Amino acid sequence: MSFLEITGLQKSFGANQVVKRFDLSVQKGEFITLLGPSGCGKTTVLRMVAGFETPSAGSIRMDGKEISGLAPNQRNVGMVFQAYALFPNMTVAENIGFGLKIAKKPQPEIDARVKQMLEMIKLPQIADRYPFQLSGGQQQRVALARAIAVRPKILLLDEPLSALDAKIRVSLRDEIRVLQQELGITTLFVTHDQEEALSMSDRIVVMSAGQMEQVGTPFEIYNFPKTRFVSSFVGTLNFLTGKVVDAAAGRFSVDGQEVITSRGLQGASNGETRTLALRPEAVVLGSGGEGRNSLTGRIELVSFLGSIVRIRVRFNENVVSLDTFNNPGAPPPQMGEDVTVSFGRGDLQLLEEA
Ligand code: ADP
Ligand code: MG
Repeated sequence: MSFLEITGLQKSFGANQVVKRFDLSVQKGEFITLLGPSGCGKTTVLRMVAGFETPSAGSIRMDGKEISGLAPNQRNVGMVFQAYALFPNMTVAENIGFGLKIAKKPQPEIDARVKQMLEMIKLPQIADRYPFQLSGGQQQRVALARAIAVRPKILLLDEPLSALDAKIRVSLRDEIRVLQQELGITTLFVTHDQEEALSMSDRIVVMSAGQMEQVGTPFEIYNFPKTRFVSSFVGTLNFLTGKVVDAAAGRFSVDGQEVITSRGLQGASNGETRTLALRPEAVVLGSGGEGRNSLTGRIELVSFLGSIVRIRVRFNENVVSLDTFNNPGAPPPQMGEDVTVSFGRGDLQLLEEA
């Protein structure tokens, strides 16, 4: 039995069905990220788990108990929002202790917990400050401490990093993950940032327009995307569209040149037009030799990105981008050059749609 069991969850606002169907089993201690573009329903799912929205259908069970009828304060959840939602007229200590005070804990216990939380977020000196005296990153640390202070069964984080500067965002991302691991706290994290999702999560739920597109580990989602949407959203940039030559043997024709996928073309029929995804870092310049795929084309773009030089090769209808490392000893190839590129048979991933 999973710790959090969400089944058939739906939400409509009037005629607008914003969560069409959401099913997820979360293990205790797991860090799950809901990833998708703005408006796809991530916040709505989180708010239903928190109790701020009533589901139109479906069930949410936590620790074996149905919670969808309970008020937010009866659910034992901690939540952090994108915008700093600290109480402006309370000190940091009062903010962090707020939930415990509501729960009528004795003051010495509250003080001890607040002190412990401040040490945990590495800000032991700021207990008496007010939110306006803190930086954005410090405010979000305090918001996190406030959410964790009540020892919730589950932590809900709704884009808590997206209002912060890039540098603080990255360091706080690592801090949150380390903290989550230390505490072993089950976490649902929402973001539209694929890098955040890939770097922090045990598993990712990719969402699009109220639907779940794919659920998997960062490794699975990045390497083996099921749909074009997932593939482009997590940065697997290359799509090869062509004809299935022999589905059983994994043979596929790209602009008249044949490749083989060892990952299979199950569900595709011979002669059908389909699309395969291919990661840029799987592709190298030069012909592949035995057991690899080779395609010949012309370089149409060379982008010098610093440590990486991205090269785009056109075959006919299809193009492939590949990454080479910058090498001061050898200038990159030139636009207009004819080249052969190669990649493994295991690197071609069939997408569900053409
Ligand atoms: P995300 O967090 O992925 O950006 P949301 O869950 O906030 O998406 O919103 C999903 C859709 O539901 C959006 O189209 C949004 O406009 C709509 N929506 C969210 N909350 C409400 C509400 N209280 N009333 C009406 N529509 C809403
Ligand atoms: Mg949102």
